[in-house]
Amino acid sequence: MPESISAPPALTSRDAVAIIGAGMAGLACAHLLAQHGVTVSLFDKARGPGGRMSSKGRPAATLDLGAQAFTVRDAEFARQLTQWQHAGCVAPWPTCTYQASASGWQTHDDGQLRYAGAPRMSALTRYLIDAITLHAHTDFHSETRIVALERVTDGEWHLKDAAGNHHGPFSRVVITAPPPQASELIGQWAPELSAACEALPQRACWAAWAIFAAPLPAPSGIAEHWQSLHAQHPKLRLVSRNHTKPGREEQPESLSLLAQLDWSDAHIELTPEDAAQQLLEAFLECLPVPAASIPELIELGAHRWRYAQPAKPNGQEYLYSQQGIALCGDSWKGSRVEDAWLSGNGLGRALIGRSV
Ligand SMILES: Cc1cc2nc3c(=O)[nH]c(=O)nc-3n(C[C@H](O)[C@H](O)[C@H](O)COP(=O)(O)OP(=O)(O)OC[C@H]3O[C@@H](n4cnc5c(N)ncnc54)[C@H](O)[C@@H]3O)c2cc1C
Repeated sequence: MPESISAPPALTSRDAVAIIGAGMAGLACAHLLAQHGVTVSLFDKARGPGGRMSSKGRPAATLDLGAQAFTVRDAEFARQLTQWQHAGCVAPWPTCTYQASASGWQTHDDGQLRYAGAPRMSALTRYLIDAITLHAHTDFHSETRIVALERVTDGEWHLKDAAGNHHGPFSRVVITAPPPQASELIGQWAPELSAACEALPQRACWAAWAIFAAPLPAPSGIAEHWQSLHAQHPKLRLVSRNHTKPGREEQPESLSLLAQLDWSDAHIELTPEDAAQQLLEAFLECLPVPAASIPELIELGAHRWRYAQPAKPNGQEYLYSQQGIALCGDSWKGSRVEDAWLSGNGLGRALIGRSV
């Protein structure tokens, strides 16, 4: 590790921390700091928190277009999950999963329990932002894209947003944006962190949604309430039935169709309409039922994730440079929700000077 990438000195009561990005990593970091009385300002360019755990609200249904469910392997993350379950913002899902290959549909069980936000994935990130902003010394700036870091004095930073407003001063700046976006902000100030970002190429992913007027027929011999499907198809990777997720039983048949990463990388410049159509056709190729039995489609769309996941995470929880800039997020620790939480929580712990 270059010398300038190091463990952060512990915060004092005079320090204020800026966190760019209110996805799971930024929320985990902010939550821990806020609980320890640190002054924290959280910024996100989106309308709400969530990042790649966001959900899309449509008139007929709510669909998760990023993470569909998450695993829990780490003991500290498991304790956190228990709190979220008590708060009612997560529940186990899916429990009825299949895989589809040339030889048909088979049940799929990798022995791993998974959880989803209830009644939508973003309910969990909404719960976290509410818990964070309960503390008087914290604030959340949504729809605020940070475009530059400016050094006021040695060790003091201002953030400039896309509307030209300045925020600060902050003694530490935490960036949780995917590495290509983080690199744009820090290249001038922390070239060693920027180089670490450049060394982490990202994979793209198309995520389509399809809403139907009536339930899809189940293939012969398959449970009618099947919840998700791992597809071995050159275009399609995973299908989730959002109306089978906890708290969404009232909504109509509503699918999330996640594309293969190789196909997404090669076709990321398609129009959303074209990507959605191709993923729907791929799904129908995987569904062994008569074409005439497919119900009326009432909505079809797709979201382009240009930075969906790291090609190969570097395994570190976070990076910190002596100028007071830190990087965390799933690209460093791993490529899952749990990794993002561990990364943000681990950086938060280091910032307050606690090893566990
Ligand atoms: C299609 C898809 C499916 C997935 N499926 C799963 C799954 O099944 N299970 C699982 O565990 N994980 C899954 N993941 C991965 C999981 O979603 C991520 O690991 C996790 O959500 C990453 O959290 P993060 O906080 O590191 O990053 P993000 O959620 O990307 O948060 C970064 C935030 O930074 C904000 N931002 C970026 N630049 C700026 C800026 N300049 N100014 C202000 N804000 C900025 C963004 O708006 C974003 O909210 C999936 C991801 C995708 C895309």
